[in-house]
Amino acid sequence: MSDATAKKEERRKFQAIRGTRDLLPPETELWNRVEQTAHEVFATFGFGEIRLPIFELTELFTRAVGGETDVVAKEMYSFIDRAVPDIDRASGQVFSREVLYAGGDAFARYVDRFEGFLDRLKSAYETGEIPSNDANRAGIERLEKYRATAREKIQWGEFPASPEAVADYAAAAFAFVQGMQLGYPLALRPEATASVCRAYIEHGMQSLPQPVKLYYTGPMFRRERPQKGRYRQFYQIGAEILGGTDAPAIDAEVIEMLMTFFDKVGLQGATLYINSIGHNAENCRRGYVATLKSALEKVKDQLGPDSQRRIDTNPLRVLDSKLESEQPIIATLPHIADHLCDECKTHYSAAKRQLELRGVLYQENWRLVRGLDYYMRTTFEITAPGLGSQNAVCGGGRYDGLVELLGGPPTKGIGFAIGEDRLILSLQESGKGQTQQGRDVYIAWMGERAYAAAIRAARDLRNAGFSVELPPVEQKFGKALSQADKLGAKYALILGDNEVSEALWTLKTLSTGEQQKFPEPELIDFLRNQKSQS
Ligand code: ATP
Ligand code: MG
Repeated sequence: MSDATAKKEERRKFQAIRGTRDLLPPETELWNRVEQTAHEVFATFGFGEIRLPIFELTELFTRAVGGETDVVAKEMYSFIDRAVPDIDRASGQVFSREVLYAGGDAFARYVDRFEGFLDRLKSAYETGEIPSNDANRAGIERLEKYRATAREKIQWGEFPASPEAVADYAAAAFAFVQGMQLGYPLALRPEATASVCRAYIEHGMQSLPQPVKLYYTGPMFRRERPQKGRYRQFYQIGAEILGGTDAPAIDAEVIEMLMTFFDKVGLQGATLYINSIGHNAENCRRGYVATLKSALEKVKDQLGPDSQRRIDTNPLRVLDSKLESEQPIIATLPHIADHLCDECKTHYSAAKRQLELRGVLYQENWRLVRGLDYYMRTTFEITAPGLGSQNAVCGGGRYDGLVELLGGPPTKGIGFAIGEDRLILSLQESGKGQTQQGRDVYIAWMGERAYAAAIRAARDLRNAGFSVELPPVEQKFGKALSQADKLGAKYALILGDNEVSEALWTLKTLSTGEQQKFPEPELIDFLRNQKSQS
């Protein structure tokens, strides 16, 4: 590398990773407002906040979301963690050249260390500090055999002749260790329902009064193609109801909460779509999927390659297709509503009636499906304007089998996840995303004595909840006022020698240029009144 390139490399500007982004003021104010509304609305429905880890065992998502889904198979950020520190270090020490080449009774010393290491590995395997899997079981078995032969050699006085021979010997053991997987496979969460169910089981929440109502907010990670409304780090606000009954009123209430939230944040033009996908049984969804599959086989050559593949892997997903050319064909496919079992049918009509009781408007969409077996009965999606083809701002549904799938007791479950990035985009597009970032008061002060008063004024105003800018160095009044304008301040509080000696402070309303004088105590009252009127 030339010097010039090296210099350039050194000065390289860092950029956020593709698909991730910084959220900056004033936009973050809108994010806070949205999240604050979620806290408030969800609390009125009896939900409590759960804060979850950002990463979990990969297996949690493979199991809960499904190993064949795009989210898990293609889009997950996963990695193998390092081993627990002492094992990580110990394996380095056992197989280090220093030990192997130490001369003398190097072999016996090596075997000692090796045995200590193996015992540690075995206890780690038992306590779950290293993953319990085939590779590790086989590795430990091999190392045990190796230990036995090493001991025999020592017993019969058959020490390897040279340090190199010890090293060769150790290399065989090291290869076994390398074939093991000493760290856990972890993944950045692509969604949070799996974590909520894991936490429900882990904390024995089935012994709390049921149902348990939890909500969360935070970043999710999927390696998708970044575009408007689709990011690799994106944010969700989600809620889950776990345990208790699957009464259709629960489905309706969770949707009512969602629509209340969207209404309170000012989202306009949201449309709620609902469907029932029955349950995983021969006389219900499985029967429908079989019918759908044979219908799809008949039109196979008119479908694109993705849909053709899905006929075998996941026929329901074909209904999800947004491909223009497939739409007329999909329109002719059989509907799941005609294949629901009696119980699912009853549940679906009751859920709709419950929505009507709550005055929640909905549209039925027979193509709304979720590809996973444990999703059942009610599914819903909400779209919002201004988002192009990424127009889903929320997806949700009932998933009665999930907690059990993750090792918990049979538990009813229903929930949703709102795409916060898209919600914000839609609010901004409709002009509902305005934030005012400007200060309430800019303090234009001049002179020592005025500065002391300015500090006091800033403190009192801030305590009263006003945002205040107190310039750190003295400025001419003209400069101060133009600075106040640039910051979008509503008022300039003018404090000079006159004001201090008269004990009358001048407040200039920057939009009108109007000036008024107040004794210090009346200033805050005046500003409070103005604020409550605006
Ligand atoms: P889509 O069909 O748009 O990919 P999805 O079915 O993958 O959505 P869910 O897993 O149901 O989405 O997540 C719920 C919501 O999270 C979506 O409705 C959407 O608003 C949002 N969302 C999902 N993936 C992303 C992403 N990569 N970037 C931004 N928002 C996303
Ligand atoms: Mg997606």
